Amino acid sequence: MNDRPFNDHSYEAFLEEEKIMGSKCKKCGALALPPRPLCVSCQSREMEWVQFQGAGKLAGFTSITVAPPAMAKEGFGRNNPYIVGVIELVEGNKIVGRIAGLDAKKPEDIKVGSPLKAEFIHAGPVANQTTSLVFKP
Ligand SMILES: [Zn+2]
Repeated sequence: MNDRPFNDHSYEAFLEEEKIMGSKCKKCGALALPPRPLCVSCQSREMEWVQFQGAGKLAGFTSITVAPPAMAKEGFGRNNPYIVGVIELVEGNKIVGRIAGLDAKKPEDIKVGSPLKAEFIHAGPVANQTTSLVFKP
């Protein structure tokens, strides 16, 4: 797996395998998610793959009532909002993802700092499948 380039395409390929993979700088240990070929901290190009656990806590969120077409197709919209949040992973990195299992109609009841765990959602036809992360309590 070290043969794969450190980019978004590899990140997505790993998601299909149900792995959350980022890059780790061999020089300073900085983690990047999604993976990056160049260290954001020391500019080194010596990277290795590291698997993230997919566990973290809610750092911030928004309840979305105006759904983009792909989400509207799933039935989301004004009367059925959904939540997108920033998740701070146990490794310290933050990622943006859809949050499920919390009541998007009552955002006042959602607590920042709530523990969340990643699940892999596969969508579309087998030949052209996309995998995305959804975080759940
Ligand atoms: Zn570095």
